[in-house]
Amino acid sequence: MPESKSTYNKKYYEDNKQKCIEKVMERYHKKREQCIEYGINRYSRKRAELLKKANTKFICECGGRYSYSTKPRHTRTKKHKKYLESIALSTGVKIVDEIDNIE
Ligand SMILES: [Zn+2]
Repeated sequence: MPESKSTYNKKYYEDNKQKCIEKVMERYHKKREQCIEYGINRYSRKRAELLKKANTKFICECGGRYSYSTKPRHTRTKKHKKYLESIALSTGVKIVDEIDNIE
């Protein structure tokens, strides 16, 4: 009766254990280097694009003019919050922060 493929593979592995491990590790390191290189290349390609976007100005709904890099900081400013509050008042919607403060 001929050996099944999995039995043959197991036997082959047992006989060439060290060789198999070396092969896998070699493939792993090669792939790893490729991945790192790909990531670096991708980042340097995207960097200029990202910086350009970060420095692009936009006009906020509150009337201010800001760049995307300062947008998160701007949304925490009094000016922006005041605008959101005025919108909330005019539409009758309560801001989540206020609801939390009531409790
Ligand atoms: Zn704003």
